[in-house]
Amino acid sequence: MYTLSFRFLLFLLSGVFVFHSIVGAEEHEGLLYQVQDGDTLYSIAQKFGGSVQSLQRLNGIENPSLISIGQILLLSDYFGVNGLVDTYVVQPGESFFSMPLELNNDFDTLIKLNRIVNPYTLYIGQPLIYKISDHQDKDNQVGLSVIGEHDTLLGLAVNADCSPYELMILNGWSKATLTLPGELSYLPGSKTKSQILSPFEDVSISNEHPSQGHPVVISVDTDHETSVTGFFDDTKLNFSSMNGRQVSLLGVHAMSDPGIYHLSVTAARRDGQLVTLEMRLPVADAQYGSQSLVLGHDKAKLLEDENVRVAEDQIILDTVSTFTANKLWEDGFDHPMSMDYITTRFGMRRSYNGRDYRTFHGGVDFGASEGTPIYAPAAGVVVMSKTLDIRGTTTIIDHGIGIFTGYWHLQESAVSVGQKLTRGDLIGYVGNTGLSTGPHLHWEVWVNGNQVNPLEWMKQDIY
Ligand SMILES: [Zn+2]
Repeated sequence: MYTLSFRFLLFLLSGVFVFHSIVGAEEHEGLLYQVQDGDTLYSIAQKFGGSVQSLQRLNGIENPSLISIGQILLLSDYFGVNGLVDTYVVQPGESFFSMPLELNNDFDTLIKLNRIVNPYTLYIGQPLIYKISDHQDKDNQVGLSVIGEHDTLLGLAVNADCSPYELMILNGWSKATLTLPGELSYLPGSKTKSQILSPFEDVSISNEHPSQGHPVVISVDTDHETSVTGFFDDTKLNFSSMNGRQVSLLGVHAMSDPGIYHLSVTAARRDGQLVTLEMRLPVADAQYGSQSLVLGHDKAKLLEDENVRVAEDQIILDTVSTFTANKLWEDGFDHPMSMDYITTRFGMRRSYNGRDYRTFHGGVDFGASEGTPIYAPAAGVVVMSKTLDIRGTTTIIDHGIGIFTGYWHLQESAVSVGQKLTRGDLIGYVGNTGLSTGPHLHWEVWVNGNQVNPLEWMKQDIY
């Protein structure tokens, strides 16, 4: 009985508290935020693009560590929007035009809150500030539709119960002519609350903030069986069917400029019409260090001979750019050697004999004595076993779905082209052949034509 009344008292108190908060929110003009569990003044400033000092000043807070859950903070008074706000992170497949539906805000509010100049520049993982509203504002909802072959602007407007002019503004059309069939159109007042367009049911990305030289897995669900194609910047994506999903692996080039890249996926609807989802994926600087190497005369001569280097790079690229649709391995990758003493990490920018830092270390180096055995880290098929000028004795294994591993500077290869390998099979011995400054294994992992950090790759979890 005592417990019950105590709980009732707590309930009453919390009711009073919430009531106070709402009254507090309505008393202020400007942008407000209700402090949540785990927030600090610093995290709030980061989230909404202000500073701790300005939050302290606006709210008369002397000690920045003294904020409490439920407290209402004034964030700013010059957004032209009043009321409580929070942030939402843009998911793969969402566009600025689907956001009002998702967040129940109007375009104008979202544009003001986020200072959006160009609505086509949202990227995956971008935090969007939105206004928390406590009522359903049907007029501001937006739906998506694919333009059919026989659609007209007037017809679309009649169906969406709006004026042709309204449709033009919403879609950024400058003329009253329609865009190509199959293109998206945004319709106000649509009843469907689907954020993503048919035939797509879900698009997920393993790493929404990849850095240079990192692997990314893109998985797509569609509402019927159809092939999926796509591009990341200029690189074509190869999709494989895995456990009912279409999966593509992407390796972000280690020397790609940090910034935002276009990512698109295309699939056919049941009626055969192609639909493309355009997304933007930010790539971060991986902060790889740099390394200046001094080579003796003979070895330097080898590097200076552009023809040898370019021809050899091309041989490797041709080998790792093929695509085997089947995944040939199970359950992750092992280290290729029982001893894993790393001497040089992946991604280091390299300069030889005082020249420019125009190359990078495309693999990871394991230091070991000559003759140390090397084992297949996962099942696959040997696609190269030969001796090259720079890489020395070289072995490359195809593991399927665009994944290759390479082993350079071997003393001796123990495999031949076409040989099927299972995890743990002997593939060769550590050596010092080719352009190498001591016995070591240089190990590379290629994903869809680009080298990625082998140690990051080993953490990757794929269906
Ligand atoms: Zn190396």
